[in-house]
Amino acid sequence: MSDSKFIVLCQPDKGKSCGACCGLYNYVDSSRSSLEQRLRLRTKRFHELVKKPDDVALYAKETLAAEDFNKRYEVIYCCEYLGFLDNEEKKVGCLLHPEQNQGCDMRDVSFYGQELCAGHFCPSHHFIPQSQCEILIKIFDDWYLYGLVLTDIDLVIQYFRLIADRIGGELKPEAFDNVSLKNIVLEYFNWKITWPFRSLETNRLGKYYFDGSQYMISYIDYARFGREVSPLNAIFLSLSSSFKNTEEIDEAEMMIWSNIENFVATYERGR
Ligand code: SF4
Ligand code: SF4
Repeated sequence: MSDSKFIVLCQPDKGKSCGACCGLYNYVDSSRSSLEQRLRLRTKRFHELVKKPDDVALYAKETLAAEDFNKRYEVIYCCEYLGFLDNEEKKVGCLLHPEQNQGCDMRDVSFYGQELCAGHFCPSHHFIPQSQCEILIKIFDDWYLYGLVLTDIDLVIQYFRLIADRIGGELKPEAFDNVSLKNIVLEYFNWKITWPFRSLETNRLGKYYFDGSQYMISYIDYARFGREVSPLNAIFLSLSSSFKNTEEIDEAEMMIWSNIENFVATYERGR
């Protein structure tokens, strides 16, 4: 890219990578253990079967036959060529990529085609500020959570905005040399997986849900609980929240405000 400040989030380092736009989280069962197993078997199958481009068809046939491809959203393609790129299974990525195949680019056989696969930069590249991209790259060491978080723009920018408002300026990546600060932020981002008020509907992913024919942005009916819209509403939607009563909203707000207060107090102590 000509802009030296443009940060590519897809494969930032040896500790993690993202495969969200290849449909990674679009399986009905997109739990960590299920995806690990799926990607592990694909990678093994690919390396056993594919010695030259003509072998890719057999790999695809066997993969499609072996796996459950039921999707969360029908309109998002789940690509059969996503696997692990390294023996340690720290990086997810494209098994057809030339770096995986001695320079031979085989992505032309894929659903999206070589050009789209090679040139795609998701909206996070444009909407998450550079310093926040650097922070995400610095604090994550886990492909599963990294991809889930970086593609949830509201979850990232709303949180860092609330912190910036309190410390009087944008957070700098260097702040995360302090492990305590890193752990506080990871507590928050881990709620993407462990949030206790998360809707269990399989057609929910962050603030979106799918009614069988189209995506819609979910909403929380605060009026039903006799409340104003929460100042944390965007975060609640990103966490796929579904509240049963007003006490749950109080508790959810308290969890997030406590995390932010803890961050700010720890940050101020280290200044
Ligand atoms: S979702 Fe975005 S960051 Fe992730 S692989 Fe696709 S383009 Fe890269
Ligand atoms: S072929 Fe394209 S969509 Fe499939 S894993 Fe590779 S980059 Fe992703």
